[in-house]
Amino acid sequence: MNQLVEIKELLKTRKLKATDLRVEVLAIILGFGKAIPYQEIQNSLQNFDRITLYRTLNILIERGILHKISMENNQSFYAMCTLECSTMGHQHQHVHFKCEQCNEVSCVETKEPIQLAIAYHLITDFEVMATGLCGACRL
Ligand SMILES: [Zn+2]
Ligand SMILES: [Zn+2]
Ligand SMILES: [Zn+2]
Repeated sequence: MNQLVEIKELLKTRKLKATDLRVEVLAIILGFGKAIPYQEIQNSLQNFDRITLYRTLNILIERGILHKISMENNQSFYAMCTLECSTMGHQHQHVHFKCEQCNEVSCVETKEPIQLAIAYHLITDFEVMATGLCGACRL
């Protein structure tokens, strides 16, 4: 169970206790391998209470472990962050891609870094959402 050790290590570095729910939620998301719909997290948990799950997800976001992707129809997806994200904040340089055919949402790196500048504004974060066909559906 290497993954469990990894999850516990990650929680420790973010100064979070490895509670059963935190570990379970992270194992589900890591196992899913791509951005996971909220519903799927719920379905994968044996028993949980909505409020505790809500708080668990929020603290994982706050500590730079996860990020939330809000889609149309109030659908939320959750994805793991990379090590660039920390308790100090999120540093996302990737795009969220939604495939119109298989409906999968994934975090993808762009070929070129995305630059965005707005006169007189300080941008601390921005989100880019792209839709189209994923590699598998294009074949
Ligand atoms: Zn992040
Ligand atoms: Zn697809
Ligand atoms: Zn992402």
